[in-house]
Amino acid sequence: MTMTRLSGNVAEAVQRLRVEVARLHAELVRWNLVTWTSGNISGRVPGHDLMVIKPSGVLYDDLTPETMVVTDLDGKVVEGDLAPSSDVGSHAYVYRAMPDVGGVVHTHSPYATAWAARGEAIPCVITAMADEFGGEIPVGPFALIGDEEIGRGIVSTLQGHRSPAVLMKSHGVFTIGKDAKAAVKAAVMCEDVARTVHFARQLGEVRPLAQEHIDALYDRYQNVYGQPGDRAENRSGHADHGKEES
Ligand SMILES: [Zn+2]
Repeated sequence: MTMTRLSGNVAEAVQRLRVEVARLHAELVRWNLVTWTSGNISGRVPGHDLMVIKPSGVLYDDLTPETMVVTDLDGKVVEGDLAPSSDVGSHAYVYRAMPDVGGVVHTHSPYATAWAARGEAIPCVITAMADEFGGEIPVGPFALIGDEEIGRGIVSTLQGHRSPAVLMKSHGVFTIGKDAKAAVKAAVMCEDVARTVHFARQLGEVRPLAQEHIDALYDRYQNVYGQPGDRAENRSGHADHGKEES
């Protein structure tokens, strides 16, 4: 890899994000969302057309701020000694298409990926799902890994949707957020509800909540729940929260 050394304000912002994105990868391990080197997190460098992303094929225990890779929003390496995640093109596509998104996470977390394997959306049958996702967690199209194809599928599914998570068909979970931490939270909650709704279905039929109840729960959680300073963290980071689910 070739490196230009970033300087000034950009370098400071990049360094902060290197620390944050490296640290957040430990959360994927802590919450049992990843196996071996699968999964990745990126964060947009605020105010710059750059992102910080996990290197390809490096074990989670070996990830440090220094091993993170800085690329532009075409996925081209700007700073870093390692090759970026093989999903870099798709992360870049999401940042270009969705200006409010500041973080992207990808996992093959088992329960959510089981739903993805079936190509089945997770129905909104519990209040925690209404709170966090504002409805069902949708399925995105099947796409091969390697270029921007997955990114196009993520954007076409999540644009105008309340859910910050998409189950990419026969693949796994992608989540977005206002920053990398919010996208990680969405990935953790996605696996949590995927597991619970799976268990519920083993017990019998599940019924989606009424739309009016989903709307009320979503509004309360996004706007009233928690501490005033934390509230923005709950938001998924993309616009059009008021749009009804189809
Ligand atoms: Zn994957």
